Amino acid sequence: MGPVNSYTPLGEVPALVDGGTMDCGSGLLLLITRAMRRLDDGERLAVRSAELSVVTDLPAWAELAGHELDGRHQESPDGPWWFTVRKGGTALPSVFSQGSRTSVGQRLWIYTNFDCNLACDYCCAESSPRAAARRYGVDLARETFADFAELGGREVLLTGGEPFMHPELGDLVAAAEGLQRTLLTNAMIFGRGRRLETLKEMDRDVVLQVSLDSATPDLHDRQRGQGSWSKAIAGIGQARALGFRVRVAATLWDEDPAGVAELHRRLDEEGIDADDRVIRPVADEGFAESGIRVSIDSLEPEPTLTVDGAWWHPVAVTNQNLRIADAPLPLSEVFGVIKDTVAVQDAASRTGREVFRCA
Ligand code: SF4
Repeated sequence: MGPVNSYTPLGEVPALVDGGTMDCGSGLLLLITRAMRRLDDGERLAVRSAELSVVTDLPAWAELAGHELDGRHQESPDGPWWFTVRKGGTALPSVFSQGSRTSVGQRLWIYTNFDCNLACDYCCAESSPRAAARRYGVDLARETFADFAELGGREVLLTGGEPFMHPELGDLVAAAEGLQRTLLTNAMIFGRGRRLETLKEMDRDVVLQVSLDSATPDLHDRQRGQGSWSKAIAGIGQARALGFRVRVAATLWDEDPAGVAELHRRLDEEGIDADDRVIRPVADEGFAESGIRVSIDSLEPEPTLTVDGAWWHPVAVTNQNLRIADAPLPLSEVFGVIKDTVAVQDAASRTGREVFRCA
């Protein structure tokens, strides 16, 4: 069956994006970039939006991306607005060759699963013991890592959920051999049984990144669950005793210099290298009820795959506005959407335009 056309006030078109109230900063730019990549040169995309800023941003985007705005209509004086854009044949130069940002394509995040033994109050992935597992399969992982290496990829970060709840974690990690590997874990459940065997059999060049939010149990346990701090400390010790390099990541709601200094002292005692400490704020995503607001404006892209999609950044996998694709592969398409989007963002900032800024 051929493509199904959509009927719009501006005529019949092969593709339509209804952006609702989205603006370019909050996700419309990703949607129209995805849709445009599926069209042939000269074909038309219709865009509908009820967001006033799109009246400025959409024509600017079309011009910067080398497309032609060829139709405009508004349903009432207050919108919504309709546009048709004809796809041009000139790709924007890649900004990455100019060294202005981290190269998209070198680093990849994978959500191995979404279930977790904890249900932290700031969890951006909405993971918990009751969350659907949504496991990334080993065959899919092998295909992903092979494609990634072929595209020049170097580094993978495996996260969740709690990855040690994935029954085939060892095979998943092994599938990424040859790439720089970091495995994020709460370090609470690999202490015995089958999971301990998985850990023991893992290559020692795998870096374990463990969450530890405070020097003493109070804050950590308040955010992550009673008794979780002491198990994390025990897990860090066990992993280090087995010869793993352990990096520690703390997630904090508030700036607390005294608490951070105390945490550093504790990590000194644990023997964690100063370069292996990450302290980051809570993002207003997932379970978090406040925190840093994220958008494609405020976050450098970090391509992230789940078994059922691809995303702009690992903190935003519950945010439909930051979804890149509806399947993890092909990886070239995921990277392509991000590169096209960033090329337009950078072209906009080079020309000094105040466009694509999320309110
Ligand atoms: S923040 Fe990490 S440990 Fe906590 S619920 Fe989410 S995935 Fe699990």
